[in-house]
Amino acid sequence: MTTHTTRMLILGSGPAGLSAAIYGARAGMQPIVVQGIQPGGQLTTTTDVENYPGFADVIQGPWLMEQMQRQAEHVGARMMWDTITQVDLTNRPFRLIGDGGDVYEGEVLVIATGAQAKWLGLDSEEAMKGKGVSACATCDGFFYRGKKVAVIGGGNTAVEEALYLTNHSDDVTLIHRRDSLRAERILQERLFAHPNVKVLWNKEVREFVDGGGNAGLVALDLLDTVTGEHSRLDVEGGFVAIGHHPATELFRGHLELDSDGYIAVETGSTRTSVPGVFACGDVADKVYRQAVTAAGTGCMAALDAERFLAAAEFEELAKAAE
Ligand code: FAD
Ligand code: NAP
Repeated sequence: MTTHTTRMLILGSGPAGLSAAIYGARAGMQPIVVQGIQPGGQLTTTTDVENYPGFADVIQGPWLMEQMQRQAEHVGARMMWDTITQVDLTNRPFRLIGDGGDVYEGEVLVIATGAQAKWLGLDSEEAMKGKGVSACATCDGFFYRGKKVAVIGGGNTAVEEALYLTNHSDDVTLIHRRDSLRAERILQERLFAHPNVKVLWNKEVREFVDGGGNAGLVALDLLDTVTGEHSRLDVEGGFVAIGHHPATELFRGHLELDSDGYIAVETGSTRTSVPGVFACGDVADKVYRQAVTAAGTGCMAALDAERFLAAAEFEELAKAAE
């Protein structure tokens, strides 16, 4: 068992954690990044990324994250291949324990553990991810220009994704398992008023149908939850929008979370309910959930952390001088 100490401890190596590391290292905070089970974060699970600024040509998600990690290491951040399993945030330095028993102590802590999309759990869904099945219309909608698409879900995310997809497709179907939506009234009104969106009520997806060869998704096999009847909807894109799980279990009881389990931060900052602990990226964001917003809030977290440490260290020096 080894104890690793640093001024700035970062959990997570997605765009938020690595951006915090780049800024933190350049501010002299010698960050340690604990990478978790998915080094590079969610973007390592995708191929084409077309909306991260700075690249005129299409880039690949894993390549972008490799570049971010190399940039962070180049300016002095240290990467640790570990996953945190226990936290103690009662005193500074904060003390965290990895799954092999190593101890990590940080004067400040930046949490960038992300969020994962919820899936329906069908074998065909798993098999068709990236071949017509997606959980992010903002990320992948562009690839379905002029094609028939469907969104599954009935909350704000599903309705926003359906409306977003009308920018690319004039045939969008929202599929919901009940006969009323959970989404806010104003979003529902926009959805129902849109000429290119139709809603299928009381329907569950039983299978994402593979067209074989390179065809990808060609249809959805649907079950009517009221009549039990099966039907088929021809689509080339299926967007699952049934919610996200923020990776915050570890912090329950240690930090304030909102009603959906996301880390609560002060508006316009990355400050959490514990002074010296900052949260950035998807773990504190249920609205935008983009690589660029995660990177932006990662930068904010490092700046907030640097200011916090400077104030705390000044106070300690003033006390010592008394
Ligand atoms: P994540 O990328 O989720 O990273 C979380 C990190 O936390 C991981 O490194 C994980 O290992 C680590 N972690 C978790 N728990 C622990 C723990 N206990 N201890 C230590 N580490 C831990 N966005 C775009 O802008 N453009 C796109 O084209 C795009 N395409 C996407 C395609 C797919 C298939 C997916 C799934 C997402 C896509 N996104 C896209 C969304 C984007 O990937 C996310 O918004 C972004 O990755 C969030 O960054 P993050 O740093 O907050 O978290
Ligand atoms: P959500 O509100 O939890 O809605 C999830 C939807 O998916 C529900 O309609 C649910 O159906 C359906 N669903 C869940 N599991 C399913 C399954 N296995 N099969 C089929 N359907 C399933 O999630 P969300 O829409 O992602 O929103 C999460 C939070 O973020 C909410 O608080 C939301 O208000 C907020 N948010 C806000 C904005 C905004 O303010 N613009 C945008 C996005 C999200 P039931 O209705 O039958 O349960």
